[in-house]
Amino acid sequence: MSLWREIGEGSRPVSSRAEEQIRADIVEVGRRLYARGFVASNDGNISARLDDRRLVTTPKSVSKGFMTPDMMVIVDYDGAKLAGDRDPSSELPMHLEIYRQRPDVNAVVHAHPPTATGFAVAGIPLTRAVLAEVVTTLGSIPIAEYGTPSTAELPEAVRKYIKAHDGMLLANHGAVTCGNSVFNAHFKMETIEHFAKISLVARLLGREHLLSREEVERLQGLRGMYGIAAPAPVCADPAEAERDQALCQVLEAPVSSTERLVPDIATRVRQASVDGEIRLTYGELTALIADAVKNLRD
Ligand SMILES: [Zn+2]
Repeated sequence: MSLWREIGEGSRPVSSRAEEQIRADIVEVGRRLYARGFVASNDGNISARLDDRRLVTTPKSVSKGFMTPDMMVIVDYDGAKLAGDRDPSSELPMHLEIYRQRPDVNAVVHAHPPTATGFAVAGIPLTRAVLAEVVTTLGSIPIAEYGTPSTAELPEAVRKYIKAHDGMLLANHGAVTCGNSVFNAHFKMETIEHFAKISLVARLLGREHLLSREEVERLQGLRGMYGIAAPAPVCADPAEAERDQALCQVLEAPVSSTERLVPDIATRVRQASVDGEIRLTYGELTALIADAVKNLRD
């Protein structure tokens, strides 16, 4: 039986062995965030539910790459400290807001991964349906409006999106993810940064083929198979989404034609001939020539 099932019942107090494991997981995730450059200096914070009364969180003014299990702080869901030598992070209210809005969430990770944060600084959300894996797991990654760190503005900004999203960018700041365990929330942070890097490369290359809406539905239909609990469906009507992204996810995915996402060269040439004009990229032209030469040899 998984650790989380063991402690997920709510009213039952967490065993000391389970608490020990959660502290160890937070230390390990902190180390990974720091090692991968997702945080610098003392940035970032991690928290996890212990039971329905207490949660454990990282201390303030400590590098997340150099924590030990005894440094953690135990707080209640109003943020009052219950145990620990240190004080919790000033971003704790953002974590508390997420736990309040999402009873299914057991852990929250906040970091500043550079590429994703670059998108957050540029004001560009990661809402295009381009990677099958991201569509299946996170869906879309919006940007929560800017709020001064450590004030009530940040939890307020996060509240708007957290019911329908497991991860989001924070404008001019970083990113936050949540999940059913510390590692689950951490892996979502990795997915966001990886997605941001790939999106950046595709945009530098000057092309980004979007998956169709039908393909998105097919991919999200696979969630059950992988045991992924989706926070919300894709918005049927983008206008409705503008009003309330608490209910659904905005995902840029065009209604499909009957063609595949990237039609093969022959299909495109045939299609182009109908229009009386052939347009090929350099890569496609060389592929065609190579193909013709091969056919001649055969
Ligand atoms: Zn931060």
